[in-house]
Amino acid sequence: MGTGVPRGHLPGVECGSTRARQPDASTPAYGGGVGEVLVVGAGPVGLTTAIELARRGVRCRIVERRPGPHDGTRACTIWQRTLELFDLMGLPVDRLRALGTTFRHRVYDIFGAHEVVLDVSEPDSAHPEPLIVSQEHTEAMLVSHLASLGVSVEWGVPYSGGVEADWVVVAEGARSASRERLGIGWAVSGFPGTQLVQVDARCAPDLPGDPAAVRLFLGPAGSVGSLPLPDGRHRLFISRPGSGVGDPSVEEIRDWARAMTGSPVSLSDPRYNWRAKLYNGIADRYREGRYLLVGDAAHAVIPVNAQGMNTGIQDAVNLGWKLAAVIADKAPESLVDSYEAERRPVAVGLLEQTRRSYWAGTDPAPDPDTMVQLLARNGKRRTLIGMGYPSSPLSVGAQVGSIRPGDRAPYPPGNPVAAGLAQAMRAGGWAVFAFGPSPAASAAAATVAAGRARVLPLVFADGAAYGLRPDEDGLFLVRPDGHVGFAGRLSDVDGAGSYLTTLLG
Ligand SMILES: Cc1cc2nc3c(=O)[nH]c(=O)nc-3n(C[C@H](O)[C@H](O)[C@H](O)COP(=O)(O)OP(=O)(O)OC[C@H]3O[C@@H](n4cnc5c(N)ncnc54)[C@H](O)[C@@H]3O)c2cc1C
Repeated sequence: MGTGVPRGHLPGVECGSTRARQPDASTPAYGGGVGEVLVVGAGPVGLTTAIELARRGVRCRIVERRPGPHDGTRACTIWQRTLELFDLMGLPVDRLRALGTTFRHRVYDIFGAHEVVLDVSEPDSAHPEPLIVSQEHTEAMLVSHLASLGVSVEWGVPYSGGVEADWVVVAEGARSASRERLGIGWAVSGFPGTQLVQVDARCAPDLPGDPAAVRLFLGPAGSVGSLPLPDGRHRLFISRPGSGVGDPSVEEIRDWARAMTGSPVSLSDPRYNWRAKLYNGIADRYREGRYLLVGDAAHAVIPVNAQGMNTGIQDAVNLGWKLAAVIADKAPESLVDSYEAERRPVAVGLLEQTRRSYWAGTDPAPDPDTMVQLLARNGKRRTLIGMGYPSSPLSVGAQVGSIRPGDRAPYPPGNPVAAGLAQAMRAGGWAVFAFGPSPAASAAAATVAAGRARVLPLVFADGAAYGLRPDEDGLFLVRPDGHVGFAGRLSDVDGAGSYLTTLLG
């Protein structure tokens, strides 16, 4: 079976022996169903990983210790880049959107001194606004899509090591036991003396400001956030000093919201009132032999910026194609190591960013002017559209037009480039974009793609989408996760070819 290498093994009890069904005949052929991966944990990240493998024909199982799906809103903000990736994976994003609501503005009241209105829309994206939708719907979409690829979640199957598989993807969440058994360090940094309380409830009278926006009130006693939910409720989340015991009563949350915003808010129809002590955590490495950590098992970040699930899903998309290429196409195993090289720095940056932006009324009060500047500079980072891998070993070449190696490949709505990218990504493979006059552009694309079934040649006369002037040509290799791997000119055909050979064998 599979790669013919020693299999992942942890001491302990074997989990259930149910086998996932094999991909059916409609699964896009990508290696013909080889290899075997065990994904542990059917949260959003484990599910995404399993889809990324299964749609490329890699045999995988996914086990989950819970007896069935979670319910509840939980992680409900899906940022634009995640929506793009869902779309490019072939998921029914429009149906998900119909279950949610979108927003455009984050409005900050900073110590009553400044109001900052941050427009978080991304007009050049096919998904210009972030979506708020209950995590149960997101997970249901993923479970059902995975089933359509022939893999059913094995519910009620706790993993405690010992299953034979070529690779094990640990998507167990922040309290991952496998991570501990593997001896992977977990650096935790807390926010001592602070707590987060939250509830989903109807607010009437409401807090001041636009109820369709995400509103954040920062004051001397901490911060109050309000997020519009699709069912008309709002999620109120309050960061403040103290520890508290047990889940907060709705009255406690209401009283804090009143005291901290000065408005006579009232709450009704409450759900999910909840208290947490917050911490950030990060694994000191993402791989141990045949075991790979993804999502919260690799990095846990406080929920106030709504990034944990999004970042984890992007881990899964980054890892999925690499693991599939190693298993199904015998690409060099070093490709898998680029997963940590690319994704861990993203998590480190995220943890730093959330630490800077968290305010719970205990540290010396932030300077409002500095906060305004920080928001102006970093506010849009959260959409994850601008996230790239400029320092990755997989990013080769120089800036051409407006694109640097490692950047997200643009796919502006309505532009033929977008349809080409979607075609390549949905097939799970690469695209070579050749911009310029033919026959030179066609010849370059054909040469780079020759003999490589996973590389789709695409030729366009107009490279404006990539920032090329009408007289400029360009040659770009776009990876299966939608990032530019190689950027050059049409004359760089040999460079692009050896890039692929080095990476994929
Ligand atoms: C209140 C709240 C709001 C949030 N809001 C947002 C948001 O808006 N946007 C955002 O991006 N993030 C948000 N987050 C963070 C987000 O919930 C997490 O980052 C995300 O759920 C991580 O997904 P995961 O799949 O890595 O882990 P999890 O969702 O924790 O899933 C791990 C799964 O593994 C299973 N498991 C564990 N061990 C085993 C085992 N040994 N065998 C079998 N199964 C096992 C668990 O039962 C669990 O189902 C929020 C978090 C909280 C708490």
